[in-house]
Parts: sequence; C-alpha cells; structure tokens
Amino acid sequence: MPSRPRWSVLNVSFLVGTLVLAAILVPLKVAVQGVHWTEVALCAGMVFAIGTAISAGYHRLFSHRAFHASWPVRFLLLCFGAASFENSALKWASDHRLHHQHVDTEKDPYTIQKGFWYAHWVWVMEEKESGLVGVADLQKDPLVMWQHRHHFLIGAVVACIPLYIGLLTGHFWAYLVMGLSLRIVLTHHTTFLINSAAHMFGSRPYTDANTARDNWVLAPLTYGEGYHNFHHMWQWDYRNGVKWYQWDSTKWVLNLLSWMGLVTKLRRVSTASMRRARLQMEEKRLRERLITASPAVATPLQERLAAARLRVDAALVSLQEKREAWEALKAEWKAKGHTKAEQWRQAKAEWKAAMALHRQEFQAAWEEWRAARLEVRSALVYA
Ligand SMILES: [Zn+2]
Ligand SMILES: [Zn+2]
Repeated sequence: MPSRPRWSVLNVSFLVGTLVLAAILVPLKVAVQGVHWTEVALCAGMVFAIGTAISAGYHRLFSHRAFHASWPVRFLLLCFGAASFENSALKWASDHRLHHQHVDTEKDPYTIQKGFWYAHWVWVMEEKESGLVGVADLQKDPLVMWQHRHHFLIGAVVACIPLYIGLLTGHFWAYLVMGLSLRIVLTHHTTFLINSAAHMFGSRPYTDANTARDNWVLAPLTYGEGYHNFHHMWQWDYRNGVKWYQWDSTKWVLNLLSWMGLVTKLRRVSTASMRRARLQMEEKRLRERLITASPAVATPLQERLAAARLRVDAALVSLQEKREAWEALKAEWKAKGHTKAEQWRQAKAEWKAAMALHRQEFQAAWEEWRAARLEVRSALVYA
C-alpha cells in the first residue's frame, strides 16, 4: 500500500494562504475603491518581470544551459526569480532536470501520471526528503549559491517593490493588494500551468514519447513556455515558440539582450531537424489510421508512405550537412583572412551549384511525399 504523503506546513500555508488572501482582498478592494490603471500596470509589470526571470533564468539558463549570460543578467534573473517564491534556482533546476530525465515516471517530481492537481501544485505541498541532484555545475557558480542561501530574503526585498512605490505615492494598501498579494498568486499559477496543463492539453507535433504538449493558449500566460512538446524534444534550445508567429516573450527578451551583447551563444536546433521530427510524427499518425483499412489497401500505402518519408528525410539531412560544411569552411577561411581570394569565389560557386542540386532533390522528394499523403487520405475517406 502506498504510504500517505506528509505535508509541508510551510508550503501548504504559503500556497493556500496567499490564494485565500488574494481571493478575499482583491474583490474587497475593487468593491470599495475600484481599480486604477496604474495598479493593473504595476501588477502586470511585476508578473511579467518575475515570470520572465523564472522562464529565462531558472528554466532556460540555469536548468538547461540554453545560452550564456553576463553576470549582471544572471544577478537580475536570480533576484527577480527569487520573488516568485518557488524556491532557489538551484533547487528549482534540480527538480526540473529530474522532470526531464524521468518524465511521466515515478521519479519525475511532478509527474502528470498522478493527475492534473498533483502536477500543478500538490507536489509542492508534500514534504520530501529529496536533496539536490544533477546540479554540480550550478553549485560551482558563486551567484547561484549566494541566491540559494538567501533566496527568501532576496525574494522578499524584490517582491516588495510595489510597497516601496506605494509608500512614496500614498497608494500603499492598493499596491499591497494588487502588486503583491494578487501578483504572488498569478506568478505561482501561471508557472504551475506548465507542469499541469502543458502535459495534458494540446498537440504533440514533434514527439509522442512523453505527455508534453504544444498549446498556443498557454503560451501568452506562461511567458512563452506553452510550446512544451518542442521543449521536451530539444530542451537545450533557448526558444520554446520557435516559429515567428508563436508567442514566446522570453525568446524575444533574450533576442533583445543578445542584440545588446548581454547574452551570448543562444543554442538553436536546426530547421531540418524540426522538419524531420514533424514529418516522422505525421507519417506515424497516418500509418496508425491506415490500420482501419483492409490489409490489401493498407500495406502498399504504408510502404509508399514510409519510402516517401525516408526520401524527404535523407534530402533534409544532406541539405543540412551541406550547409554546416559550408559554415565551417567559411569560418576557416575567415580565420585565415582569405575571404576575398579567387579560390574563395570558386569554392562559393561550387557550393551554390551543389546546393541547387540538393534543393532539386528535396523538392522532388517533397512532391512524392505529398502525393503519398494525398493517396492515404483519399483511401481513408473510402475505407
Ligand atoms: Zn514538462
Ligand atoms: Zn525544461
């Protein structure tokens, strides 16, 4: 029989207490005073700053090493992240690395297999013996260790920014309710949605090996973390919403910081790898749907689909290899200072001609794939 969980008095009191307090104070304040736009702006600003510190700092930088950051950026991410009151960056990263390593199993600290509410916040309320695992790299960072020792105090100082402004402008009580009480609850539950909703609702375009989902509704609510299927596939990529139209405010902030030279070495998966993964999933789903058709219809179509997909796959791989080889050659030539030489122009012309041939092959493979897909879909209509 599974043992009954022991509850963490501190965590239960804090999580439930802040929620109950906000549920009473916010409607009371609105009924008595109404709401001024500055209160909404202050609350939204704090939610955005602290949520982005969690997403860019705790998550993409410290848990996944998706980019390098200068110390002032690391310092600010650690200070604002502490104000989320979601433990230190070190403990957060330890739990999160375990989540990726053991996703959907008993060893996953917030496994969705135990239900929506467990993954959302019950796991935080349980008293656990688990120490720090797999964060030796972070334990060498003095800034991370400083934040680990003092995260509650640092968090309190940052979280009270609305109160300092309130004292100066004579809006202390209004800012206490909107800028602190409501803000803490919003920060908690937007982050928690990634562990719960993003493992339950949405699509799985890149992999179905785990429960992580892409969900465009969650993305604006979670500072861009809603594309969780992509994230579980390439956790080291600094982006979650990888396409230009996908909401990923953390990625946009990091792009801006990169442009300013404050963050470097942003890691990205290649477009070819993404297309290959999507294609593989699409083929898998079509083959599964073909099971409903008779073997005489299904078998040749499944074979055709597999062959067409493999041809596109091979074309994408060779295009990618050609591009990477060219980038390496370019870097080599640049280092030698030979970029304007005649030999260089000749190499470039040869590369362009080879690329044209590879693109032709890719186009032909893609047409074959589209034709195979169309045939399968038509067969499924009449199956
Ligand atoms: Zn996850
Ligand atoms: Zn992650």
